[in-house]
Amino acid sequence: MSSSALILPARRARLIIFDLHGVLVHRPARVGRELSAAEVVAALRDLGVMIRFVTNASSKGPEEIVALLDRFGIPAKTDEVATAGQALAAYLREWHPGSRVLVIGQIGLRQLIADACRDRITIDDAGEANVVVVGRDPGLSEAKLTAAARAARRGAVLLASSVEATVPAAGCCEPGPGHTVSAVEDAMGRRAHVVGKPNPFILEQVLGLGRDVLRDALIVGDTAETDIRLGTAVGAITALYPRPAALVPESAPAADWILDRLEQILLFTGGRDGDDLARAEGICNFQQPDPCDPAPRTVDAILERGLPISTTRRLLPDDLPEHGGCLLDQSHHG
Ligand SMILES: [Mg+2]
Repeated sequence: MSSSALILPARRARLIIFDLHGVLVHRPARVGRELSAAEVVAALRDLGVMIRFVTNASSKGPEEIVALLDRFGIPAKTDEVATAGQALAAYLREWHPGSRVLVIGQIGLRQLIADACRDRITIDDAGEANVVVVGRDPGLSEAKLTAAARAARRGAVLLASSVEATVPAAGCCEPGPGHTVSAVEDAMGRRAHVVGKPNPFILEQVLGLGRDVLRDALIVGDTAETDIRLGTAVGAITALYPRPAALVPESAPAADWILDRLEQILLFTGGRDGDDLARAEGICNFQQPDPCDPAPRTVDAILERGLPISTTRRLLPDDLPEHGGCLLDQSHHG
């Protein structure tokens, strides 16, 4: 019999902010009794938890993200969604009204900016721009890099959606915006200012969430450099849900929690009553996963039967008093 300690979250989340790619969509198949992302989100909604969806996708607006989530069985409203493309458009409106903007990215980003900033900025592909905006651009050409370099000589600032090297996609993954941003940075001789995650701008300005609300939020993502760094910046609880075999850079910030199953998020809600830690302890009553036993499908069944938690752990034991965590000794695999 081996024994290990489970550390339960004593800090409750009234708001859960989900990353999309690698967490809710384009995630490898689940195993055994593990709940699907759609079931977890439905259970959270049933518990009355506020939910938001935040993605660094630069070429998609909220309607397309709602449609994507719908394909994975997750209903959402457009005002629950924020994308890095929206953040770039909002940033231009707020900080660069009247500017001439060179857009390097997919057609969706260009359209988002044109729609949101119609009366505020001019899109300029001729290299006379004073702002260069970059998202992932599979069609990046020398002509675009030359236009960016010309804009740099005029003193243009450089804004980027984000700098991930890869993003999860159907089947495996695809190159992220990092390659495009690096090439444009080289052409312009300056570093980009990132407006998507981990910049809190996307939460505060696109979703209108104040710091007081964010302190009671749980941010769940598969990428430490963006999702966890953002959560740390706004004082939220952070949970890393790493992709299998994913490498986490040493420079990445440590998450408060690591999830090996998405349903462990239910531990952060305190259960249906939201009353006390005892409720969470009930959820943590470890049960050996039984591959022949179908997954519980309702919140009550989940709370009653417990979750098959095996490796939930805190990365920074020294932080424990700050968040008021609670240690439980549990016998596993008895
Ligand atoms: Mg992700």
